[in-house]
Amino acid sequence: MENCLFCKIAAGQLPAKIVYQDQDVVVFEDINPQAPYHVLLIPRRHIASMADLTVEDGPVLAHLFMTAAKLAHDMGIDQSGYRFLTNVGPNAGQSVFHLHFHLLGGRRLGWPPG
Ligand code: 5GP
Ligand code: ZN
Repeated sequence: MENCLFCKIAAGQLPAKIVYQDQDVVVFEDINPQAPYHVLLIPRRHIASMADLTVEDGPVLAHLFMTAAKLAHDMGIDQSGYRFLTNVGPNAGQSVFHLHFHLLGGRRLGWPPG
């Protein structure tokens, strides 16, 4: 989608520290990390948020979750623990309207979140 920041990162039109990519998903470091390990996982295809998912998105969602688990393992944070989340809408503070999941780890994460 035109003028979507994360579509542009996925297309290589804007720079990002890519940590993993394949045909369907891209993973890159968050520009403003909230934990020692903070990456964003996105589908290449533009989906505005979790609220816009359809049943056809099932496979890419499974792929995103499994990619996150593999990366957490590879980065050595699977034993200490991590958080995988998506913000939807104003109360959750969603600021980029291309579906993305935050993978956070490397420190103790508070609960409930702020
Ligand atoms: P949200 O608040 O929508 O859940 O998360 C958006 C995330 O995208 C934020 O954590 C923010 O730091 C990150 N972000 C915003 N703009 C950029 C950018 O241009 N590059 C990267 N790598 N991350 C970004
Ligand atoms: Zn997009």
